Amino acid sequence: MYFHSINDLLDLPELRITSVQKEMDTIEFGVEPCTSLQSCPTCRSKERVIRRGVAYRRKVRDLAAFGSKVFLHLPAIRLYCHSCKVSFVWDYEDVEPKKQVTKRFEKQASSYVVGATVKHAAALLQMPVTSLTRWFYRWMNTESQRIQKECREEAAARPTLVLGLDDFAIRKGHTYNTGLHDLRGETFLDVIPGRTKEELHDYIEKNPEWRTLQPTAVVLDLARSYHRFVKEIYPSAIRIADRYHVNRYVTEALQHIRKTEQKKLTPHAGRHLKRNHHLIGKRQDRLTEREQQELSVLLSYSPLLQQAHAWKESFMDWYDKSSSYNLAKKGFQRWLQDGASIDHPAVKSCLKTMQTWQEEICNYHKLRYTNAAVEGKNNKIKALQRRHYFTRNPEGYKQRILLECNEEKVQY
Ligand SMILES: [Zn+2]
Repeated sequence: MYFHSINDLLDLPELRITSVQKEMDTIEFGVEPCTSLQSCPTCRSKERVIRRGVAYRRKVRDLAAFGSKVFLHLPAIRLYCHSCKVSFVWDYEDVEPKKQVTKRFEKQASSYVVGATVKHAAALLQMPVTSLTRWFYRWMNTESQRIQKECREEAAARPTLVLGLDDFAIRKGHTYNTGLHDLRGETFLDVIPGRTKEELHDYIEKNPEWRTLQPTAVVLDLARSYHRFVKEIYPSAIRIADRYHVNRYVTEALQHIRKTEQKKLTPHAGRHLKRNHHLIGKRQDRLTEREQQELSVLLSYSPLLQQAHAWKESFMDWYDKSSSYNLAKKGFQRWLQDGASIDHPAVKSCLKTMQTWQEEICNYHKLRYTNAAVEGKNNKIKALQRRHYFTRNPEGYKQRILLECNEEKVQY
């Protein structure tokens, strides 16, 4: 029987198939090296090397095919060099000595853990958790470094690089870390431990390679420590206040008014307003017709609420409809003035924040980037943290985040 075509499909050029056997859910290939001799490890020559038979056959697992597990039967070929008087065993490129799997199987099995757990992947592959754990940690170490390097090089090569800086919680409410993102490449560049000024500085001291990036802009929330950090290490970058973080200040002020107004209403109206408070926060043009009608009723309960709602809506419009940076700057001043006529402490405090950050907020209209993609990555981290507790191994935690958040770059 000829195995040429299966040989091609197997795609391990150093090996030749000599037999095929299919059992229930496994396929077993007898294989041998395509060449008859291998160079002596001492003199690097084949000249006086001879074969001395096959000591035994190793059964190694390879990638699955046709819904079956695949095993290769590899001969352990004994060789002898007459020049050096040494014996040695055939060295396979695709299988490490003494391993029970091919290199590519180990790599693929490890990659199955991304987005899952070792336990889950081991069950799927029908293999022991202990081996997969060992492979996975070893693979994760090299693969996460490879991916990070690739992401960094891509970021460095971008003519218009836009970075994102955002924090994420390690177990809600306890500690925070900071993610550094390439927003155009949608990649997660690095995990910065903590989010304070000191922590950020400490990090950049230890990782000076990030200083060499030349971002055109950086998108970040309104944390002072972030702005100072970016100003210092990327002085020429445009700092853009993240639209969604900024919006939250405005919608929170609006909900604050809703709460205080609610108390002044009749119990029935108050309950009605409370139950439907999400309609006030939502953008009006995204409401259904029924919701629109509902909203009109809610707003009719309080002129102050109505005024604040219109002010919130005009902010959304300002984001969407300002046609240039200069017009946006003027529009923003008008919006601030409109807000000043709303008599409520929540709006006053919100306006103060808006005034402080007006430059960074208006910068959105220079380069319309947000940290929206970052949100997706943060959700992945949340899911990861639900699956695992990284208490003992901070390095593993970082590697795992780099893998999970750059999953498209994982090589299978
Ligand atoms: Zn030799």
